Amino acid sequence: MNVLKNYINGSWQGSASKETVDVVNPANQEVMAKVPYGTDTKIDVSQAVSAAQSAYFEWRNVPVMKRVQVLYKLKSLLEDNKETLAKIITDESGKTKGESFGEIQRAIENVEVACGTPMLMAGDVIEDIATGIDEMMVRQPLGVVGCITPFNFPSMIVFWFLPYAIATGNAFIVKPSEKVPMTMMKIFEFLDQLDVPKGLISLVHGGKDSVDALLEHPQIKAISFVGSTPVARYIYSKGTANGKRVQAQGGAKNPVIVLPDADIEMSSTIIADSVYGCAGQRCLAASTIITVNDEKREIKDALFETVKSRTTGYGWQEDVNMGPVITPESKSRIEGLIQKGINEGAKVLLDGRNTKVSGYEKGNFIAPTILENVALDKELIQTEIFGPVMSLISMKDIDEALAFVNSGNYGNMACLFTSSGASARKFRNEADAGNIGINIGVAAPMAQFPFSGWKDSFFGDLHGQGKHAIEFFTQTKVIIERWPNIWSRKF
Ligand code: NAD
Repeated sequence: MNVLKNYINGSWQGSASKETVDVVNPANQEVMAKVPYGTDTKIDVSQAVSAAQSAYFEWRNVPVMKRVQVLYKLKSLLEDNKETLAKIITDESGKTKGESFGEIQRAIENVEVACGTPMLMAGDVIEDIATGIDEMMVRQPLGVVGCITPFNFPSMIVFWFLPYAIATGNAFIVKPSEKVPMTMMKIFEFLDQLDVPKGLISLVHGGKDSVDALLEHPQIKAISFVGSTPVARYIYSKGTANGKRVQAQGGAKNPVIVLPDADIEMSSTIIADSVYGCAGQRCLAASTIITVNDEKREIKDALFETVKSRTTGYGWQEDVNMGPVITPESKSRIEGLIQKGINEGAKVLLDGRNTKVSGYEKGNFIAPTILENVALDKELIQTEIFGPVMSLISMKDIDEALAFVNSGNYGNMACLFTSSGASARKFRNEADAGNIGINIGVAAPMAQFPFSGWKDSFFGDLHGQGKHAIEFFTQTKVIIERWPNIWSRKF
């Protein structure tokens, strides 16, 4: 069985660790590869940092216009290999073909935005801030930076950071999720073709040990993390305690309010896509749907009709709308949550448990599930499910619904469906979440905008993507200059 290699100092190298974990296709449990794991992966991190440090000293002095040239090449490599990448994403993460292509597109858009770094990292100058004195602010790179990514977007998430980090002059080390490392292996085949100093961009595998090595290494200046909230909190506190700049994006629980004046057909289609896209394993998955004054059950019935026809199966098949969840443990955790909800009084409108897919009997499949009247103070409503489960709750008006939205611990996204501008305006102003959707079900910021989680969905100041990423990967330096006016002297 293929044990995955690290990419360090510009070449593929076996890990110092002999311990491995399996990379498993969630649709059929086929073991696709083994990935290095355990304490000795710390040695790999240390080697990657040494190589990255030397590469950084060379790269930071390459003019920014030249640095971004490698991004143009990277974009075309990603464009030319979309299908290959998408197949790997589907096989290791379970996504549908369309979802896999979609995340690659989002990755490419970040590369495109980072091509604007020569403008985005420009500083400021004020001439004659005092008589004969000029003051300027320039942005300089930080050095070697580390990035730790989750399983649910094997290609896209690293691109919220990587293109900006290298365009601004840093060296970059990525530690992908051990559950989905194959996509990153393919991406590094493309990165290997770029004209950059050896060691500038590295790949190290592993789990907690390699993450800790990144958090502890004194030459790592910044950490970008995306994953669950408990780990994000840990990364932020340990990274900052060790003097690093840290941006740590965490988990989510995304509420959606549907007002009585919403367009029923449009809303139900969009909400279903949001809840069940990526089998609910999306940090922007809608999860709790709050219907307001839906006494005639218009929105509830429309949601039921839209959802019941969705097909669950192996994601690469054209007619499949939803793939499996990532692991058997994840499947049994989600099914356990559904059962708990039922025991606590929730009514089942659609039960996706015990789903078997012909030809993929071992897959971690849960079909779309809808529960109604879920108790507000219980786990189904209070915790991130990360599975294809919709919880329907009812409220009397927008104020009650907003108060409920704002009572949650997370703040990644909140959405409103309405045809009223006044309601929309109130909602976007008062909702405690960093990404807001109005008649949008997955309010995912495009690459120009920060991926703006709040509360327990984000620890730090500057988010991934766009100008925030440029600021995160640079430090400002202010220079004040006086040059005696030699021309006014009499020689
Ligand atoms: P995870 O937190 O389990 O793992 C994320 C990364 O951290 C992986 O690389 C993993 O190896 C590492 N890791 C795991 N446990 C660790 C520990 N104890 N110490 C140090 N490192 C550790 O997350 P996941 O299950 O891979 O991803 C799903 C989660 O990510 C969900 O909560 C989802 O909401 C969140 N997510 C958030 C965003 C966002 O933008 N806010 C985007 C995507 C996913």
